[in-house]
Amino acid sequence: MDELQEPDGLISLRRDTLARMGVFVEHVDGRAGFVNRFRLDLGFAGRDMTGDAWLEHIHPEDRAAAADFAGKLRSGGMTHGRIVYRVRDAEGAWHWCMTTGVVEEDPRSGEKLLVGHDQDITYIKQLQHEADRARTLAEERAEEADILRYAGAIITASLDKREMIERVVDQLRRLLPIEHCIVFERNGRELNALFVGDEETESPVPLFLDGFGRQQVLECLREGLPGVIRDPRRSARFWLSVPLVVRGEPEGVCVMSRTDRQSFSALDVRKALAIADFLAVALSNGKLYEGMTMLATTDQLTGLLNRHAFFLEAEQMCGEACQSGSPLVCLLADIDHFKSVNDEFGHLAGDQVIRTIASCLKRSLREVDLLGRFGGEEFVALLPGVALTEALSVAERVRARIEDVRFRDFERTVTCSVGLAVLESERPDFRPGFDATLARADAALYRAKSMGRNRVEVYES
Ligand code: GH3
Ligand code: MG
Ligand code: MG
Repeated sequence: MDELQEPDGLISLRRDTLARMGVFVEHVDGRAGFVNRFRLDLGFAGRDMTGDAWLEHIHPEDRAAAADFAGKLRSGGMTHGRIVYRVRDAEGAWHWCMTTGVVEEDPRSGEKLLVGHDQDITYIKQLQHEADRARTLAEERAEEADILRYAGAIITASLDKREMIERVVDQLRRLLPIEHCIVFERNGRELNALFVGDEETESPVPLFLDGFGRQQVLECLREGLPGVIRDPRRSARFWLSVPLVVRGEPEGVCVMSRTDRQSFSALDVRKALAIADFLAVALSNGKLYEGMTMLATTDQLTGLLNRHAFFLEAEQMCGEACQSGSPLVCLLADIDHFKSVNDEFGHLAGDQVIRTIASCLKRSLREVDLLGRFGGEEFVALLPGVALTEALSVAERVRARIEDVRFRDFERTVTCSVGLAVLESERPDFRPGFDATLARADAALYRAKSMGRNRVEVYES
């Protein structure tokens, strides 16, 4: 090293060598010095590569900072510094450049010189950009995995279909900029729709039940594949449909819209399909639960509430009546001499009688009345909000209707006896349960039987 070193601290190098290394020199008063290879390779004429002319090639967003940098060095406001900016070559392509500058005195002339160094750092920027993208992607994936895990937790934590679907759709909204979301469930040949949105929004469900979207939903169900259409009435809106597949079969369709003029990308569809798996499980679990609830609460022969389910609801109804002080009447009906129907015509005929009488009762009562099969050929009902006289006429109507029924398979009239009792809710210190009222109705029924059957009796203490 020492051999290169002159005694005055100078070394001799060719300009060309320095230029190839990326070094450039300018006079601080703006006069040109020499330019480096980097700037020559951009394809400009020499005079375009120094002073203010150089600034012209710099990206508009970086130009002010570059001008400030050069100005400070030239004016003595700064002795050295570094700046990163974008510069355009003669063909219009952008390059990232890092310029290091230092102001030095020419040891021979004593003039102030701006000595700089340019380095093309485009590849570093590209690497940085790719690293940023990879990080963003990894973060997105991690969030996606989190959302899916959460969606999984939702469907194992609840049995209510609507609640499950609404909460899973909330997770879908975290993944995609969704406007509307509708979940269609196949129910035999029908489609049941569940619109997940606020009540003030006009429901888009009709667009799919009999509007332009019907075909999309049916196709999605048939093919089991996602599809995207543009809304024919609002060109900024796109609709994506994804199948909800349960055990290999499309059992429903989830349609969702976005209104930001963008269609759904392949990545969007992938995310929607991942959530659709959870919606499908929600539908399937919900159906299973509804089916089991139905089985557990319904009497198979008549379709009425079974004894257990009736008692549960009856207790609640009695509690409400006691609290509000509104009247409640219990009705107990028993088919007369039913054993002889079985004996004469067989048990299947007996079953038919039970079914017919159940439907007679159902048609004679209101929606708000609670009706159940109490046991063999006995039925029980609770009539809320009616006074005894009103209940009496209802019971009388039921009795008469049953008497008038003509059975298809055998010639015989069937009658029934009815007992009525009022829930004693007048005394605030006394809260009679359903059992007590039922026992009174049973006593009234017993009296109706003993007084000759085919009649209505009211409990009297
Ligand atoms: P009463 O007028 O005193 O009520 O006489 P009854 O013959 O109706 O009363 P009983 O309690 O002696 O007989 C009821 C019969 O109902 C006995 C039972 O075999 C029959 N039964 C109970 N459940 C069913 C059912 O689901 N289907 C059929 N076919 N018969 C049933
Ligand atoms: Mg009986
Ligand atoms: Mg009977």
